[in-house]
Amino acid sequence: MNYDVIIVGGGPAGLAAGLYTARMNLKAVLVDRGALGGQLLNTELVEDYPGFETILGSELATKMGDHARKFGLEVRDFEPVLEIDVEGNTKVVRLESGEELRAPALIMAAGGLPRYLGIPGEKEFWGRGVSYCAVCDGAFFKGQELAVVGGGDAAVEEGDFLTRYASRVHIIHRRNELRAQPILIDRARANVKIDFILEAAVKEISGTEKVHAVHYEQGGQTKELNVGGVFIFVGFVPNSGLFKVHVDHDEAGYILTGRDLQTSVEGIWAVGDVRAQLTKQIATAVGDGTTAAVAASMYVTSLKDAARA
Ligand code: NAP
Repeated sequence: MNYDVIIVGGGPAGLAAGLYTARMNLKAVLVDRGALGGQLLNTELVEDYPGFETILGSELATKMGDHARKFGLEVRDFEPVLEIDVEGNTKVVRLESGEELRAPALIMAAGGLPRYLGIPGEKEFWGRGVSYCAVCDGAFFKGQELAVVGGGDAAVEEGDFLTRYASRVHIIHRRNELRAQPILIDRARANVKIDFILEAAVKEISGTEKVHAVHYEQGGQTKELNVGGVFIFVGFVPNSGLFKVHVDHDEAGYILTGRDLQTSVEGIWAVGDVRAQLTKQIATAVGDGTTAAVAASMYVTSLKDAARA
């Protein structure tokens, strides 16, 4: 199937790109391996997106999807992408279903996946006490003590969220200083159900049928904490591996972009959490999607003009 623009990923960055490209009358398709919304679906309340003092992540996702569809964006959700290739000037997206989508322009908005700790017990107890999503799994831990691993925005914000179910949340961080924004730290510190275990390296998660304990090293001593669950928020691995063709990226796999967010490959833009940038916020993702959509539109128009001349 041929398009003007293919957008890979249906989080805020991809949906903004979809809205703009469709509204500029381009033949645009957006593919996502799951439901529309990306990280919004793992977020309970959004309160830092201008214009929405507070809104559920899932509700904002639905609104963004509906808004983009309204302008004619073709949405293919639950359609996993196998790989992205380039043939001459054409960008080729091969779906796991075997179908191929082709277009001169491609906007990569595939975000990323949670980083794993890589410790004993993490894989074994995944879904049996180990989780990477508080909104998805928090309610299974009513009245239990939980450990949250990490010191960034996600760990502190999700730790705070988990106290609506858990009797106590222990946030375990490897350094003495948290990386999270001060407003999130202040809120967590004011929450009587939260305590911080700092300069502690988590070494193992243990249990029988389910998680019973987390083991960490602190000040040269090995300690054990009895918990019913361990929520891990130690960062994010960008989904840049879908490219079959080389696209410049940094050492962590984040795609490098220029001024208008084009990558090292002409006709491919990268937006949102998959690209190297200072911050990963909904507002910046939406801005990225907008910039790339306008640049992609100019690119497609120039190709059409050149073909007509
Ligand atoms: P992050 O900011 O990269 O923080 C990851 C945390 O995990 C850091 O504290 C890091 O420790 C720790 N860590 C990394 N590898 C570890 C390991 N192997 N063992 C133990 N600890 C480890 O990731 P994030 O919190 O998932 O956030 C990702 C992005 O989303 C950020 O840009 C964030 O701003 C954004 N976000 C924003 C909000 C919001 O604005 N409300 C909410 C969630 C996420 P060190 O500090 O020692 O490096």
